[in-house]
Amino acid sequence: MNSISFIDFGEKGNWIGGAFAVPSSAEKLDVTTPYWGRTIATVPLSGRSELDAAVDAAAEAWPAWRDTPVGKRTQIMFRFKALMERDYDEIAHLVALENGKTVPEAKGSIDRGIDVVEFATSFTNVLRGDVMNVSSGVSCEALYEPLGVVAGITPFNFPIMVPLWMIPIAITAGNCFILKPSEQTPLSAMKMAELLSEAGLPDGVFSVVNGARDAVEAITDQPGISAVAFVGSSTVAEIVYSRSTANGKRALCLGGAKNHLIVVPDAEKEMTVNGVISSSMGSAGQRCMAASVMVGVEDVDAIIDGIVKTSDGLQLGEDMGAVISAAARERIIGMIDEAEEQGAKIVLDGRNTPAPDGYDGGYWLGPTVIDYASPEMTCAQVEIFGPVLTILRAGSLEEAVEIENGSPYGNAASVFTSSGAVSRYVSENASAGMVGINVGVPVPRDPFSFGGWNQSKFGHGDITGTSGLSFWTNLRKVTTRWPTD
Ligand code: NAD
Repeated sequence: MNSISFIDFGEKGNWIGGAFAVPSSAEKLDVTTPYWGRTIATVPLSGRSELDAAVDAAAEAWPAWRDTPVGKRTQIMFRFKALMERDYDEIAHLVALENGKTVPEAKGSIDRGIDVVEFATSFTNVLRGDVMNVSSGVSCEALYEPLGVVAGITPFNFPIMVPLWMIPIAITAGNCFILKPSEQTPLSAMKMAELLSEAGLPDGVFSVVNGARDAVEAITDQPGISAVAFVGSSTVAEIVYSRSTANGKRALCLGGAKNHLIVVPDAEKEMTVNGVISSSMGSAGQRCMAASVMVGVEDVDAIIDGIVKTSDGLQLGEDMGAVISAAARERIIGMIDEAEEQGAKIVLDGRNTPAPDGYDGGYWLGPTVIDYASPEMTCAQVEIFGPVLTILRAGSLEEAVEIENGSPYGNAASVFTSSGAVSRYVSENASAGMVGINVGVPVPRDPFSFGGWNQSKFGHGDITGTSGLSFWTNLRKVTTRWPTD
């Protein structure tokens, strides 16, 4: 199933205490599909009272959930994974419809979310803790303990995958979790709530509170919430981090990015062309791991020609989806205009690419390649978050790495090369938390953890894998001595 059909979901409320709850007082927001720009649902813009209700339900559920053996918690994750697979096509359609991805992209993102569910099913091993005799007759034991009621705030670009970076780890570790999804893509989260409930998750252990800034501020200020994870833009990540930690919470806030992809002349042409395009144009460039700047070292013109030619052949609606909103489309076009005004050359121009047949009114943009840009131009510095690749030229590998180091962000950096020495130089000197060697989207898979550096992350540790587990737990150390006869 690769085509998208219009569905009207009507009024979706929140999910609190194991049931849908439509708040009567909250303002409502239309959710539109990028495919046609038409309304597909309304969601509440919840505030403190809705959040408080979710915290109350979570606090009531927590003692029993905390005391549920980990083997029983992991069984719920096994069932949840099976239900995600049962409803795979329906969920992929939902993600595509609310976010604008193609169906295959939506499926890929669900697969990566399921990876984290699988990691959580292994917690009977992972949560075992440690024990050792540290002295004669004295043992030391380390135990992972849940924090209590915790929350996650997520962006629009991966409505299933990013919430799943948090939910399976946090709840299988014994916490009760409140999700505040993006108000632009809230529907997939409601579907997950239903599936978790069907999988046997007790009422109150997982809640969804829909809304925007007010709901986020209610989370950062609520004394009953112990930890907050956030994924979104750096501006908001920094605000959420400061406000949560000022209120005594543990916080880990992942922000935006401007990822560099360095290409040297010995790079294998076809692999590089495909790697650069899938990184910069995949998910219509709306990925925090998108390589939006390519730095070509010396003469890589043949590779650039290949990138422009192949990108030009991408079919909207088939190979590439739409961008999230009319406002995003306008902002991206404005940034391409600005690059042109600043002297860069638009070698592939997607600004006027028409909507694919049957999708009039949607937020469509064709792939765009900006060449001969310079590092100080806006297009080389600011996260565009659209299907736009900016190309810079460098005279040496050292200069290319210096350009990468000049970015305030630090999510990902990649190099395409056939040389071990070049790859080592980049992986040792890039200022980024995730490095790709001949990999355009270097997302680590569990149990390795996902997380950038610099302005791409506020807080310590990473969001998935064993580092994610550390974030959602406290380690209790018990030292024991018993008298001997
Ligand atoms: P966003 O920052 O606008 O929104 C993220 C969340 O914050 C949403 O739930 C939103 O409701 C809330 N929010 C927005 N403005 C707020 C405010 N003023 N106060 C409090 N809360 C607010 O991000 P987005 O546009 O949904 O997503 C795109 C951004 O997310 C990009 O910058 C992208 O790089 C980033 N992102 C980062 C990662 C990562 O792992 N580092 C992953 C995915 C997306």
